[in-house]
This record gives sequence, C-alpha cells and structure tokens, in this order.
Amino acid sequence: MIPRTATLLHKNDWKSALRNTINTPQQLAQAISLSQEAYKGLMHATELFPLKIPISVLSRIQENHLDDPVLRQYLPTEKEMQEHPDYQIDPVGDLNASPLPGIIHKYQSRALIITSQVCAVHCRYCFRRHFPYQDMQLTSKHQEKIIAYLRENPALNEIILSGGDPLSLDDEKLYELIQALESVSHIKTLRIHSRLPIVIPSRVTDRLLDILKNSRFKTVMVLHCNHANEIDEDVESACLKLKQHTDALLNQSVLLRSINDSADVLAELSYRLFDCGVIPYYLHLFDKVQNAAHFDISAKQATIIVDNLRKKLPGYLVPKLVTEIAGEPCKTPVE
Ligand SMILES: *Cc1c(COP(=O)(O)O)cnc(C)c1O
Ligand code: SF4
Repeated sequence: MIPRTATLLHKNDWKSALRNTINTPQQLAQAISLSQEAYKGLMHATELFPLKIPISVLSRIQENHLDDPVLRQYLPTEKEMQEHPDYQIDPVGDLNASPLPGIIHKYQSRALIITSQVCAVHCRYCFRRHFPYQDMQLTSKHQEKIIAYLRENPALNEIILSGGDPLSLDDEKLYELIQALESVSHIKTLRIHSRLPIVIPSRVTDRLLDILKNSRFKTVMVLHCNHANEIDEDVESACLKLKQHTDALLNQSVLLRSINDSADVLAELSYRLFDCGVIPYYLHLFDKVQNAAHFDISAKQATIIVDNLRKKLPGYLVPKLVTEIAGEPCKTPVE
C-alpha cells in the first residue's frame, strides 16, 4: 500500500478530501506508478465517464498493480469502449419510474430521492453512469413539489436519500431536507444510501451523527462496499460511530468480475463489515449498464458463489443475492 501524507491532511476535513481528487489518467499514472503502456488504455474511457478518485483512497490501493480489487472499481479501461446489445443506458428503468424530477418511485412503501448529483468517487460499473443528473437537480422548487407528492401518497412510509451520494451535501443542507421530510407525518423511516463513509470516512461528522440521532425518524444507513480492502481503521471507526447513532447499519455490494467474485473474498468482506458493526444486506447482480459489461457475472455463476458463501458464514452474514428488473414491484431474489 502507498503511504500518503495527503490522507493525513484530510483526516478531519471531508470537504477538502471530496475536492482533492485524481481526474486525469496522467495524475493517476503518477500517483500509483502505472506504466506508460497501462495508462494509454485509460484515455478513451474517461471521455465516456469522467475519472474521479479521491486522494484519500490511494492508501488502500497497491502500487502499480492493475489487478488491485479497489483500483479496478475506479480504473477506466479500453473494455468500456465495447458496446453490447444486451446492455443499456438505463438498465433498471429509473427514468420511467420518476413522477417528478428528483424522485424515483417504484415500490409501494418507499420512494427514492436523487438528493445529489455528486459522488465522492466514480465507480466504473455504476448503473447510473449515464444518468441525466442535470434533469434531476434537487432545486428548492423541485423539493417543494416532492414534499407535496409525498403528502399525496400515504402508502409511502420510508424515504431513501440516494444520488449521486446524498452525503456529498453538507450537514446543514441535509438537515433542512430531513426537516422538510419530517413534516410529512406518514413517513416513518429515513434511509440513506451512501458510499461516502467508506471512501471518505471523515464525512461522518459529529453534526451528522447528531442529526441522525435527533431525527424523529427511524434511521437506516446503507453503505456500499465491495471488498474488505476498502475498510481501513478510519472506516472502521466511522462505521462504529454510525452504528451507535442509527437504528440499522447495513451494506450493499455489487458482484463484480475479478473484484469480489469468489466466496472467500465475500466471506472476508462480511466478517470485516461485522467487525465494523455493519450487517450485509444485498449482494446485487450487476445491472446491465452499457460500457461496463466486463464486470458482469451470470446469475448461474452468482448462485454458485453464494451457495459456497453460505457454507462459510453464519446466516446473518450472508447478503441476499438480488437483481433489479425494470417494472417489478421489488428487488428479485436470484435462486
Ligand atoms: C432498491 C430500491 C429501493 C429499495 O428497495 P429495498 O428492497 O427496500 O431495499 C427503493 N426504491 C428504488 C427506486 C430502488 O431502486
Ligand atoms: S458512489 Fe454509487 S452512485 Fe456514485 S458512481 Fe459509485 S456506484 Fe455510482
């Protein structure tokens, strides 16, 4: 692993950690000592989906090692240039399920707000890599309309803040949004889907913890982590704090080729999460998003991996293997 003084600088300042990113193949090649040959392959793919890696994750990536399971999640490659007919721009049908800009409402009791357009890191396999965030901005006008929509839909009892990454908003913006949501009396649970506590653990500020603790909502935090190497001591202590200030702390992963497609790797992840107070929730089959087919693992292979995982772990550490099928009323179990 690479020692990074920059990581120390950002230990307590998440906003500068969020800004301090690698955005060009040249910067990345230099930061992790990639060979000239390796780095040439990165150029084209960054035009499809920009490269973004916060300096703060470099300490969790091995130097000049293209197979590193953390790096692979963020590394643009020539393979992204291949288009496949079975892969789509909006593989999960988000846009057909958006009654208003900024909200996706697919399931009976819960709806999802696109809270932010910004992510701390760009994951190459992201099913929202083609998402038209510019049409989904949560302006104050949109926010008012969303609150009105929620009032008119009493079957909704849970709101999910998603994105982009909702924790890329600062604490006061988040607080305002949560207060507005609290005014809708039939909403009982607030869920936050975020990768930030994994990527930039200093995001878990005392103020954020207070906001969660003092909300009238039941609070659920769902993290996104795919490999045990993503969890260092700082991530662990951030998670343990979140655990104390929320009603449930869960993790979702995506099953990704050459990153976590083995029962051993997934078992290690589950145990590492459990050390941090986090319970594995979902293991998603890759959503068939265009330009990322090389990450895909078939449903058949996935079930074999999870059958093996079940033999290694106590039941409560085995994530549910699911897939999202556009138009279905819930995630679909893969069996
Ligand atoms: C995945 C998802 C949810 C949450 O589903 P759960 O099974 O409750 O975790 C809600 N809304 C949308 C649009 C989703 O994609
Ligand atoms: S953090 Fe989540 S939404 Fe953002 S690029 Fe990664 S997978 Fe996509």
